Amino acid sequence: MQIVADLHTHTIASGHAADTIRTVCETAARRGLLGVAITDHGPMVPGGADKVYFMALQRMVDAIDVPIRVMSGIEDDIINARGELSMGEEIVGRLEIVKAGCHPFAWIAEQSMKVRTDALLNAIALRRFRVFTHPVGSYCDFDIDAVVEACAEAGIALELNESKIDDVRKNRSFLELCAKLNAYITVSSDAHVAEEVGGFERSLSILETVGFPESLVINTSTDKIASHFGISWKKG
Ligand SMILES: [Zn+2]
Ligand SMILES: [Zn+2]
Repeated sequence: MQIVADLHTHTIASGHAADTIRTVCETAARRGLLGVAITDHGPMVPGGADKVYFMALQRMVDAIDVPIRVMSGIEDDIINARGELSMGEEIVGRLEIVKAGCHPFAWIAEQSMKVRTDALLNAIALRRFRVFTHPVGSYCDFDIDAVVEACAEAGIALELNESKIDDVRKNRSFLELCAKLNAYITVSSDAHVAEEVGGFERSLSILETVGFPESLVINTSTDKIASHFGISWKKG
């Protein structure tokens, strides 16, 4: 199995990552990827980027001169029990790779497991994002079986995250559940420094161990990425 694009990377705009958009893109190109998505945190993560950054992001990624597809994106947070994201449609509508996850210090981290699970299920039902990031190793617990089932029904992908792969047992049972329910996944580095971009080795090894079907892995082909995110792979 080969991952053709890293759909989850952070830059200095996230407030706790080391490199610029340009360095992340150049590293992705040098490592032989066909594409990379710039997906910084929104303002719910302390130090994260705000609206103006995300409004300008498409213009920046379009202008970066690298020989691969660079996608604009966000890793947003759920801000209330209704499952709404911190960024409204006027912002996420401009972005290509819209994802959401649970992060420390965000609203969802302060909730009980029941409230958090219900907020996640409401967010999934709203379908405002296309990938739920790091369901394993999210810093806060929720009913993962219910979330995977809801994502499978809604056609929202779940992420196998190379930076949160240490708990092999949990990642394996997560993948087995995804395979059983035909839930799509993405495989991502979640790079916070350019050296991590395109690093999927441990994720690929777990996928092989569980015999995970390649047909359910979105970022093994540019066509599947384009179709899942409703974007054109070729720009212009
Ligand atoms: Zn995250
Ligand atoms: Zn991230």
